[in-house]
Amino acid sequence: MMVMKFGGTSLGTPQRIEQVSDIISRTYRTQAKLAVVVSAFGGVTNQLIDAAHRAASGDTRYEAELAQLESRHLDAIQYLLPAPGQTDARTFFMTELKNLFDVLHGVFLVRELSPRVLDFVMSFGERFSAYIVAEALRHRDIPAYYLDARQVVRTDARYGAARVDYDVTYNAIQNVVHSRNGLPVITGFIASTANNQTTTLGRSGSDFTASIFGAALDATEIQIWTDVDGVLTADPRVVPQAFTIPELSYEEAMEMSHFGAKVIHPRTMQPAMERNIPIRIRNTFRPEQPGTLIRRTPAPSPFPIKGISSIEHIALVNVSGSGMVGATGIAGKIFTALAQHDINIILISQASSEHSICLGILPGHASRAQEVLKKALKLELLEKTVGAIEVEENRSVVAVVGENMRRTAGIAGQIFSALGQAAINIVAIAQGSSELNISFVVERTDLPNALRVIHHAFFNGKGGEVAHG
Ligand code: ASP
Ligand code: MG
Repeated sequence: MMVMKFGGTSLGTPQRIEQVSDIISRTYRTQAKLAVVVSAFGGVTNQLIDAAHRAASGDTRYEAELAQLESRHLDAIQYLLPAPGQTDARTFFMTELKNLFDVLHGVFLVRELSPRVLDFVMSFGERFSAYIVAEALRHRDIPAYYLDARQVVRTDARYGAARVDYDVTYNAIQNVVHSRNGLPVITGFIASTANNQTTTLGRSGSDFTASIFGAALDATEIQIWTDVDGVLTADPRVVPQAFTIPELSYEEAMEMSHFGAKVIHPRTMQPAMERNIPIRIRNTFRPEQPGTLIRRTPAPSPFPIKGISSIEHIALVNVSGSGMVGATGIAGKIFTALAQHDINIILISQASSEHSICLGILPGHASRAQEVLKKALKLELLEKTVGAIEVEENRSVVAVVGENMRRTAGIAGQIFSALGQAAINIVAIAQGSSELNISFVVERTDLPNALRVIHHAFFNGKGGEVAHG
């Protein structure tokens, strides 16, 4: 069994969907046990979110957005299917679209959009695309069938980023897929609660869906088809010498994606890793490229690091005070308070003097984090154990990733001397005890230069020899 997932850009136009159908047909000829997971057509999820927000704010332009979605999907149906098959597809689509319209009209009338309703609205994107792709494959005589993942992927009710109940889900997937012949075309991203409420797995969650199906069906490989050649050593828009990393371990891939390499959703690795299933990233538009293979034991690499990833904009929260030295429980209070308010911490660094704790968070969370911490540390602020809670905006975090770092001394030294020579100031440093990544914070304006000098220091212009897209 193999699972292939196609992302939104791969399905951006009817012509591209045809290319995707070619890729699937070719694979199907050699590998009849196949499952396909799809995202919504490129940009559709954003448009659905936009329409929902417009409706909630009383802006009737949500109707025009629906009309756009309607013509886009009808165009795809017309382009991809022969005339007789178009009627059924159109009926399915128009019925669902009418439901979507009714929901949005309801949102418009009550001027309220709950996370639960937003998940339901978003779910239409994947349902439309999976249905149309399944029909397009049937037209090519592949026995494809449409599978709405809400039937099988069971989650809790955390709308917007629901957590999967793996036992129930794996069982349900096995039952449905094994009881039917043919090739399922599965909606990525969407799931449901035990009460049949629609949920989603978080933005870009279709990768995760593919991994869940791969694990449930004990796939030999999970292929993530996207619009780049694989995971690159750095962002090629900033570092033109960046090249495709041939192989990564699951942990390295997780670190790279956590720190901004958007090629694959970080949660994708977990289910595959548990069942030891390799994940391969492939480029829909350059299928001849080998891509990046992610597996338990990657082939040895000649470089001491695998790649450099970054998050362009973070805020730093600095909790400092001379009274913090030797005081216990402050870190605990900080993390508990932030966790209670769903503020995700990207990076932590504490000076060994214990004089300050520094946290990297998303800029949108900065003011809330400051408020929350002022409340949680009220006593410490009064007693002056903590002197100040400050926020610095416009910082970037860079993560240098690679398992070889464990075995190689002096990587940190090389990084910091390269940065020093380029006169780039390091604001904070953090290293996970796994030694899988060394991350540091710089001013946002220094980020491009930091990426270039580090790439040069470790890959030494090597990328020129290797093609990239
Ligand atoms: N369509 C969803 C999104 O845009 C999920 C995905 O594309 O993976 O976030
Ligand atoms: Mg994606």
